Amino acid sequence: MKVHILLGPPGSGKGTQAKRLVEKFKLNHLSTGDILRDAVSKGTEIGLRAKAIMASGKLVDDDTVNGLVFARLRQGFEGDVLFDGYPRTLQQAEALGEFLSTQLIGLGYVLSVAVPDGALEARVVGRRVCSNNDCGAIYHMETKPPKQDGICDLCGSPLKHRSDDTAEAFRSRMAEFNATFQPLLGFYERKPNFRSVDGNLAPEQVFESLVQLFAESA
Ligand code: AMP
Repeated sequence: MKVHILLGPPGSGKGTQAKRLVEKFKLNHLSTGDILRDAVSKGTEIGLRAKAIMASGKLVDDDTVNGLVFARLRQGFEGDVLFDGYPRTLQQAEALGEFLSTQLIGLGYVLSVAVPDGALEARVVGRRVCSNNDCGAIYHMETKPPKQDGICDLCGSPLKHRSDDTAEAFRSRMAEFNATFQPLLGFYERKPNFRSVDGNLAPEQVFESLVQLFAESA
C-alpha cells in the first residue's frame, strides 16, 4: 500500500479528477472533508467541534484531522490510497511524513493541479452543482452549461450555486488558501515524486495527464 496526494486550489477541478482517478485505478479515496462531514452528521465529539468551523469555511485544527487520518490508515487498506483535501497545511504534511515513515508506508505521487489565480475566479463563479447530493454533477455556465437551463442533465434535479462560489467569498477563500498552500507546495515540490499537471487545460486533458503519471508508476 502506498499513499498518493492530489493538491490544488479551490476551482482547480481537483475533486472531479480525484473521483475519476479512484474509479480508473481502483484506489481508495480518502477525503478528509467526507470523514469530517460524516462525524458531523453522526454527532460525534469531533463532529460537534468541527461543525461551526466547517460552516465558516475555516480549517479544522491539524491534530484533529491528523488523528482521523492516522486512525483510518492504521486500519489498513487493500491497495493504494488517494488523499483528497489532505494534507492542507505544512504541519499536516510534516506529521503525515513522520507517520508514514514510522508505519513503513510509502509515499507515491504528489500531484499538483496548477491553475493561474486569474482563471480560478471565473471557474468558481460560473460553477453550478447538482442539488442532489447522490449525483453531485458539476457544470459551468460558460464552458459546460446543462442542456436545460438550471436542470441537471444526469438526474433532472435543480442546479444550485454554492454560497461560497460568489466572487467575494471566493477571494476570501483564496486568501486563506494561499496562506496555507504556498508553504505546503514548497514542502512537496522538493520531493522526487512531485509532479505538476497543467490544470488550465480541458478537464479531459488534465485527466489524461494524471492517468499517464499513474500508469508510469504501476
Ligand atoms: P472539503 O470537502 O475538502 O472542501 O472540506 C470541507 C471542510 O472540511 C473544509 O472547509 C474544512 O473546514 C474541513 N477540512 C477538510 N479537510 C481538511 C484538512 N485537511 N484540514 C483542515 N480542515 C479540513
